[in-house]
Amino acid sequence: MAAVLSRQPLDKATVSIPLGRIYIIPERCKGCRFCIDFCPRDVLVETTEMNAKGYHYPIVAEGKEDECIACQFCSILCPEFAIYTEEIVEEETAK
Ligand code: SF4
Ligand code: SF4
Repeated sequence: MAAVLSRQPLDKATVSIPLGRIYIIPERCKGCRFCIDFCPRDVLVETTEMNAKGYHYPIVAEGKEDECIACQFCSILCPEFAIYTEEIVEEETAK
């Protein structure tokens, strides 16, 4: 059997993974798919709907509503400032 080469952080059990809320502004999107293709959690998919410019914008994939980790990679990559995320703070999730 092949040896497992991946490592786990030593403090993995004590660090909580942030949860993000995603905001998409469909009318700004130009359908480049950067946010979809590079999201490390595969949270986004292309919608079948089109915006006024004729582009398919991203939406949150079914079943992935709680998968965003608020890494903000999508907002950094988006050339049109059409997507951003905010971390959901603990007090909010405790409600
Ligand atoms: S913040 Fe990170 S995990 Fe969340 S949708 Fe954007 S790229 Fe994906
Ligand atoms: S990166 Fe921005 S412009 Fe490109 S598909 Fe995503 S939201 Fe649209």
